[in-house]
Amino acid sequence: METTIFSGLVLLGPDLEVRPADVVVEAGRIVAIEERRRSPARWICPAFFNAHTHVGDTVAMDVPAPGDLDALVRPPDGLKHRMLRAAPADDCRAGMRATLERMVRGGTTGCADFREGGVRGIELLRMAARDLPIRVVGLGRDGGEMVADGAGIASARDLSGYDEVVARVRARGGIIAFHAGEQDDGDVDPALDCHPDFVVHMTHATDRQLRRCADEGIPIAVCPRSNWRLGVSQGPHHPPITRMLDHGCRVLLGTDNAMFVSPDMASELMFTSFVYGTDAGLLLRAAIEGAAVIGLPSWIETGAWANFLVIDPARGGVGSSHDPVASLVRRLDSSMIETKVFTLKDESMKTIF
Ligand SMILES: [Zn+2]
Repeated sequence: METTIFSGLVLLGPDLEVRPADVVVEAGRIVAIEERRRSPARWICPAFFNAHTHVGDTVAMDVPAPGDLDALVRPPDGLKHRMLRAAPADDCRAGMRATLERMVRGGTTGCADFREGGVRGIELLRMAARDLPIRVVGLGRDGGEMVADGAGIASARDLSGYDEVVARVRARGGIIAFHAGEQDDGDVDPALDCHPDFVVHMTHATDRQLRRCADEGIPIAVCPRSNWRLGVSQGPHHPPITRMLDHGCRVLLGTDNAMFVSPDMASELMFTSFVYGTDAGLLLRAAIEGAAVIGLPSWIETGAWANFLVIDPARGGVGSSHDPVASLVRRLDSSMIETKVFTLKDESMKTIF
């Protein structure tokens, strides 16, 4: 059996503890982690999982778009939905593929994607992702949820009968996710009452609602750049990342609409770090841990599937960093990624590139 050894400062386990070590990989699994006294100047970091995307709206990228959240992205007739309906299927698929390729280049090994367009939308997403080394969790709507990995519900406010959708998807073992609290806190409790696998945004959630998420173990995917772009945040209190963490919520990081925001986790990390002042270790964790929501391995641990990035800090001019975790959060760009090791266990696909 072929053995590959990656040496460097390794961010170990869920605490991302930095240790000089060798990571030994066989058949896509980490079979040993051997600590060393010193290591080559490489950082070995778990690959990213983007916890919230809409890759489908790549076709509407950077369209000149004045207007508020409702005018731009609220179903059924927001600008995005009109553009998606008008776009030829080939353009839509090609756009999604370009965005997914961009995500892979940026070190992302998986994403949870809210896909519009019903069953056809999910089919196009699968075609776009074919043979790419990225696990795309498709969360459909308008019927798409029955052929996808689950349902991505726009808002409890926008979908009458959402509880029936939830029941149907649950019955087939699918994932349930809701947008909630993006504009105000009015649609949060109905979403939480459905016990979703995770909620997205919670930009304007109350302390009581955050407490519920913590107590009921419902992770929150925050998308700060999107919130700013869509005018639902003007400051570091929305989304309330600090309060989320204080309450003990499990916070995940996503990039939301590809039409407005690049799907690049390094950019999301950098923005969130500077605007929200979040602890670098907790933030980096939020960019990785989404994989756990769908039962995929996330951390660099013995026995885990190998999903990590080998980073050459010198390429980014950050070789003199005193704190690799802080520098990854504040300064990473894809040119620093020397090697990607992505293993998609459910598709038996192993890639080192
Ligand atoms: Zn969204």
